[in-house]
Amino acid sequence: MSDWQKTLRDDSISTLEQLRSYVAERFGEDAAEREIDVEALRPAFDNFQMRITRESLSQIREVGDANWQQFIPTVQELEVVDGVIDSLDEDGDSPVPNITHRYPDRALFLVSPVCASYCRFCTRRRKVGDPEKISLKEYESAFQYLAEHTEIRDVILSGGDPMMLSDQRLEYIFQRLRAIPHIEIIRIGSRITSHLPERVTPEFCEMVQKYHPIFMNTHFNHPSELTPAAVAALDRLSRAGISLGCQTVLLKGVNDDPHVMMKLMHELLKARVRPYYIYMADQVAGGEHFRTTVQKGLEIIQALRGWTSGLAVPQFVIDAPGGGGKVPLLPEYVEEINDDEVVFRNFEGKQFTYKQPRQPVPDVMPGIAATHDVVPIEAGKAAKKKRVARNRKSANG
Ligand code: SF4
Repeated sequence: MSDWQKTLRDDSISTLEQLRSYVAERFGEDAAEREIDVEALRPAFDNFQMRITRESLSQIREVGDANWQQFIPTVQELEVVDGVIDSLDEDGDSPVPNITHRYPDRALFLVSPVCASYCRFCTRRRKVGDPEKISLKEYESAFQYLAEHTEIRDVILSGGDPMMLSDQRLEYIFQRLRAIPHIEIIRIGSRITSHLPERVTPEFCEMVQKYHPIFMNTHFNHPSELTPAAVAALDRLSRAGISLGCQTVLLKGVNDDPHVMMKLMHELLKARVRPYYIYMADQVAGGEHFRTTVQKGLEIIQALRGWTSGLAVPQFVIDAPGGGGKVPLLPEYVEEINDDEVVFRNFEGKQFTYKQPRQPVPDVMPGIAATHDVVPIEAGKAAKKKRVARNRKSANG
């Protein structure tokens, strides 16, 4: 057993009784009495397992703060209103076990059933933590599917957390994927740098360099997660040549505040992590109390865009319920758009006008447009001319 596995086993909290004792010792008996009712929390614990690493515990500064909310179970997890079990219908787009193939040129490959800490808002809580639902024995049909589907050029390893696998198993996966010529990019979706930074070992960093290009999408939701240990782990990954991005989930009571988000994005960039997405929290049963409004997300993006460098502004997306995929959302900047001009407001609310080009637009769009099933601009112009002529005719006669 490696050192990080020992740390995980010996220093994490994984029962409600341990949690109650920990809270009593650190925050006082009153807090434990008030917050950790072991019997009342039992059904939430049975629904979705709990483990909180030493690093995640250290990020909790006080009862009820942003990190407490992400990891400490509550009875609110039992209140189901609009939530569904598989809110993104990932299983509906799963041609073989462990693979979700939704987008044209990329596929999700679930390689690990477990995480270091379990986030109470997890979208995949129906599977995560259960080795029977994400089986380590089902790799073969997944590799075969990926090899047969030559359109897939980007594979996202996920789970659970792929970094919970041993280096040997990860290397085996990398080797198998690199043996498939059409797979260009390997991405690892992992929250390990926040939950268990010691997992990013020198041995892993040496091994991974043989399989580039490798990207890692980290997951940080609050600036307080960027501890010195997390930042050092990110530094090791960067030095190993891994391109780092971050996926953040918009969570009520955790980061639904423009100042918190701005600080998070700045801290990420300082650690050489490019903010990639802010997701609306999914409509997942058990995690609904974390949801806030879409307006709040737009307000946050508006508070970032223009007010800080573009590098610090991720895309704000909703992963469409039922399997529609990620849809980007932007605050409304355009006030009017026609063939002559575009009227819009800038980040400060000041109005500006951009003149459309007068010369004919080169006829390069229709072919591209046909393949993407969109209406080319020229066709839109022609339609408008016809509409104007029609209106004139009816007005005249
Ligand atoms: S690390 Fe990711 S997969 Fe694991 S519990 Fe948290 S959100 Fe879910």
